[in-house]
Amino acid sequence: MLGSMQSKQLLISSIIEFAEKNHPKTEVVSNTTEGGIHRYTYADAAKRSRQMANALTNLGVKLGDRIATLAWNGYRHFELYYGISGLGAVMHTINPRLFPEQVDYIVNHAEDSYIFVDLTFVPLVEALADKIPTVKGVIILTDEEHMPETSLSGKVKVMCYETLIAGESTEFDWPEFDENTAACLCYTSGTTGNPKGVLYSHRSTIIHAYAANQPDVLGLSALDVVLPVVPMFHVNAWGNAYICPMAGAKLVFPGAHLDGESIQKLMESEKVTFSAGVPTIWLGLLQYLRSSGKRIDTVKRLVIGGSACPRAIIEGFRMEYGAVVDHAWGMTELSPLGTFNRPKAGMENLTDEEYIDLSMKQGRGMFGIDMRIIDDEGNELPWDGVAFGTLQVRGPWVCESYFKGEGGQVIDENNWFSTGDVSKIDPDGYMIITDRTKDVIKSGGEWISSIDLENVAVGHDAIQEAAVIGITHKKWDERPLLVCVKNEGAEVSKEDMLAYMDGKIAKWWMPDDVVFVNELPHTATGKLSKLHLREKFEDYTLPTDK
Ligand code: ADP
Repeated sequence: MLGSMQSKQLLISSIIEFAEKNHPKTEVVSNTTEGGIHRYTYADAAKRSRQMANALTNLGVKLGDRIATLAWNGYRHFELYYGISGLGAVMHTINPRLFPEQVDYIVNHAEDSYIFVDLTFVPLVEALADKIPTVKGVIILTDEEHMPETSLSGKVKVMCYETLIAGESTEFDWPEFDENTAACLCYTSGTTGNPKGVLYSHRSTIIHAYAANQPDVLGLSALDVVLPVVPMFHVNAWGNAYICPMAGAKLVFPGAHLDGESIQKLMESEKVTFSAGVPTIWLGLLQYLRSSGKRIDTVKRLVIGGSACPRAIIEGFRMEYGAVVDHAWGMTELSPLGTFNRPKAGMENLTDEEYIDLSMKQGRGMFGIDMRIIDDEGNELPWDGVAFGTLQVRGPWVCESYFKGEGGQVIDENNWFSTGDVSKIDPDGYMIITDRTKDVIKSGGEWISSIDLENVAVGHDAIQEAAVIGITHKKWDERPLLVCVKNEGAEVSKEDMLAYMDGKIAKWWMPDDVVFVNELPHTATGKLSKLHLREKFEDYTLPTDK
């Protein structure tokens, strides 16, 4: 027997309609690419999204068409999130930090028909113009006054965003369709091989947004002021572009200005209460706060994800600035949130030190995400905080396959998706990432966690950033090499580093060598690029191996 409740489809257009009706005056503030702050309300955003839907319809955009964006976090990008998906077309957010050949690959793979581009990224599209035949037009996210001279004219139709929507009606009846219809397309960074597309549906996006706003996850309310530093081209700003209008929270978009000084200024002037981003962003902010003496007193919580968060960052924000750092784990294939770190019953009276210890873990599973760890033979491992193995997940916002079937079968017969992470899970259900499968260091048949070593190394006052990679070793197969970037003006030697790490890690985990470099390579999503680092040290011989 079926239940007798209404089966209204879960569609993204309903989010902006809801915000317009229930939070019409709540502000959306943007630091713009043209310069200066732009401010309007959810009611304005909803109207302009409908104008965009009318404009797209006039351009001939239909259900299922892929429409790309190359843009920072800002109000026009936000309108596109609703205008494109609301119409039933697919919003394809491209990460502009990818190599140009990867951008070219994914535009062609996705068969994008239009590209919406911020002023900053016009040169990137100009360089690709001859290689993207499916693209019928490029729309520049600005007004007539700021339209640039571009070599794109003559090759494709070039349009100005404001002119495109100017004459359009603010009325548009959002179409009703199956909630399983594709809504957004996001490519993985592709550290090995070509990037692969993950195609989110309206249903998966809305369920993820509901789940991600549980009290023990983002837990945002209509009184929050949210600054998503995480880009809208990085897994939909981790859901913030949907969750904030659902919650009625004020949104503050940083645009291209992601340095510590700009973020502090925006946090102070807009009274930001909550922000989310990758560790490098928070490191930049922390350094700026310390050197300038400025504060972020309205900020209550910061979410860190995308890479393991060094203890020094969690400690710095909590102890010096009174901001709690919540550690989250996720991936493109999960829309992206999978686990979130908040305390549970029995942890009410943790000391700061104990709380920081807890915060180092990647967090508990969210309702909707089923998670387990398995060994190499596929046996499920216990949640004892000791056993570690491949992390697998399944649930309504976990991908079933990649776009166009790339990579073949990616889930097993019971829907388990292997994340490529090696983890342990403690008896309280907190998951701890040991490493990426391909980054773990295999020394004499045992595993060394590169992440654990990096976390210890960055705890040293003189160290800004650290990476550990495995170097081939005749006797042990692989041994760890620690590669560090020093803080400006800091003095520290290899011997100092090894002495500092002594006693904080198992003796046999001790790096066989320490090298200092001016900077470390990063991926398009701000992670340490171990692939590039391994290439750089391909011919390196450890002193213990001579
Ligand atoms: P994104 O680029 O959105 O971070 P990717 O899909 O490219 O997502 O990368 C996901 C991977 O990032 C995870 O499989 C994991 O290895 C790593 N990751 C994400 N969050 C964390 C975290 N909190 N701690 C350690 N690693 C993390």
